[in-house]
This record gives sequence, structure tokens and C-alpha cells, in this order.
Amino acid sequence: KRAGQGEWVLHADAQRAAQHSKQMSQWKQRLQHALGSEGLTLSFQPILDLATGLVSHFEALVRMRLPDGSIASPAEFIGVAEETGLIHRVDRWVLNESIRMLREMAERRPDIGVAVNVSGPTLMRNDFVSTLTEIIKHSRLSRPRLIIEITETAALRDIKAAGAAMSELCQLGCEFALDDFGIGYSSFAYLRELPFSYVKLDGSYVRQALKDQRNQAFIRAMVLLANGYQLKTVAEFVESQALQDFLAEAGVHYGQGFHIAKPGPLPDWVLGEGTG
Ligand code: C2E
Ligand code: MG
Ligand code: MG
Ligand code: MG
Repeated sequence: KRAGQGEWVLHADAQRAAQHSKQMSQWKQRLQHALGSEGLTLSFQPILDLATGLVSHFEALVRMRLPDGSIASPAEFIGVAEETGLIHRVDRWVLNESIRMLREMAERRPDIGVAVNVSGPTLMRNDFVSTLTEIIKHSRLSRPRLIIEITETAALRDIKAAGAAMSELCQLGCEFALDDFGIGYSSFAYLRELPFSYVKLDGSYVRQALKDQRNQAFIRAMVLLANGYQLKTVAEFVESQALQDFLAEAGVHYGQGFHIAKPGPLPDWVLGEGTG
């Protein structure tokens, strides 16, 4: 009986693996198609200065148009993009498009920035600095307000190499945010050793902050640390006014979430005449 069960388990595992690789190759195909046919789009979500209530910048969030007209979220395809190495093409497209939007905003609102998510492996590619330098040069914007959110911090383990790439990009006027801080690979050493300007407190702490004292303790402690390190804190998943009030009172600098606005197209007030 035991052997039979073992066999059954093995069979189920093999089936699951086969299913996974089938789905992987399907997403890989869709992604390759999207990259070659203007199938990617960006949604923008505003990030508010909680003390003034004014928009500081927008986070660019990628989506994929599927052939049936539906929209796939990054949770569905970023993992596959990373596993197949297509991520650097996605990240490059997002950077190009974000700089293009910054150029459209430059006339009316040069003070408002765009934050892009760049995966760790992309940051660590030896052509990343030169590619981004080229994109910025080509835009003829002198110091675009570009914030680079690092999402996959496993790649940051080579702190020396990451620091070198980041410092070069700081020279061009780029700033860095450590995303989803408090879960996964995030380490305090990154905040101490690398030239970050922002630390984004993971949504899982923020969203439950009013219900759980421990999350409030985390947020207050991070504000204290960030102030000492001269970093700005950003809270994601601000889902209610009560939460926004708590965060402002706790001294969190910026907030982002469905209560403020859902991701969508850039609003007319940041775009030049006739481009909105
Ligand atoms: P992230 O960088 O932490 O982005 C925040 C995510 O939280 C976004 O999901 C956003 O829509 C969602 N969000 C914002 N406010 C709220 C809220 O109040 N409640 C809830 N429940 N969710 C909220 P999205 O757009 O699905 O992106 C998921 C993740 O995919 C991002 O997390 C980021 O890690 C990755 N990603 C998105 N765009 C890109 C990209 O262009 N390149 C790369 N490499 N990764 C990306
Ligand atoms: Mg992000
Ligand atoms: Mg985040
Ligand atoms: Mg997140």
C-alpha cells in the first residue's frame, strides 16, 4: 500500500511539473509576442506626499494585452519573464516608455517623477548602466526624475557590484527605492550600504496596520530608522482614510494605494496641451 501511495505521489508530482512547464512555455510565447507587437502597456499609480497631500511621483506598473483582449497582471508573467531571461527586455521597454512619459510631462510638470520597477538581475547586467544612460541621453531630458524600484533583492547580494551600478546611475540623477521592505530577501545591510533614497514598507504591514499592533510597531520603527539614515519612507496598500491618517501621524513620508487612486492612465493635469 505504501509503495502504491508513493507511486501515486510521484505521478502527481510529475503531472504538476508537466503542467507547470506547459504554462511556462505558454506565458513565454505570449510574452515574446507582446514584446514584438506593442502588447505591453503601463498603468500609473500616484504616490502622495502625506504631509502636503500633493502627488510626488507615479509608479509605472506593466500589464500585458492578451490576444483575446483581456489584460494580464504582472503577477502572472514577471516570474516567467525572470525564469526565461525575457525580463531584461520587459524592463528595457518599461524604462523607454517611462522616459517617454517623463518627456511628455516635462513641459507642464517637470517636478513630478516616475518610478519604475527594475528586477535585480537586470540591474546587475553589465550593459544596464550604458543602456539607461543611452535612453536618457536620447530623450534630451537633462535630469529626468526617474526613481528605480528594486524588486528582486536576491541579486543585490553582491553589494559591491550593485553599489557601483547604482552610484553611476545616481550621477545621472536617478534615485533608488528598496521595494517591499520587510519580507523576503530585504536586509538592513542594503539600506546601510547602498545609495537608496526611499524604502517602501511592504503592503502586508501597511494594510493590517490598524488591526495589528505589531505592524504599527514595524512602521514606527522603520520611520525612526529611515530618518536616521536620511531615507524617505513610502507606504503601499493605503486602502482607507483612517490608514492614511495613521501613516501621516506616524511620520511616513509618502503613501500609495487604492484609497488614493488605483493604477490607470496618467491624468491630463501632468500632460502637455494636446497630448492628454
Ligand atoms: P510592487 O512594485 O510592490 O507594486 C505595487 C502593487 O500593489 C501593484 O500591483 C499595485 O497595483 C498594487 N497595489 C497598489 N495599491 C494597492 C492597494 O491599496 N491594495 C492592494 N491590494 N494592492 C495595491 P501590480 O501592478 O499587479 O504589480 C505587482 C508587482 O509586479 C509589483 O509589485 C512589481 O513587483 C511587479 N511589477 C510591476 N510592474 C513591473 C515592471 O514594469 N517591471 C518589473 N520587473 N516588475 C514589475
Ligand atoms: Mg514597486
Ligand atoms: Mg512594492
Ligand atoms: Mg508589493
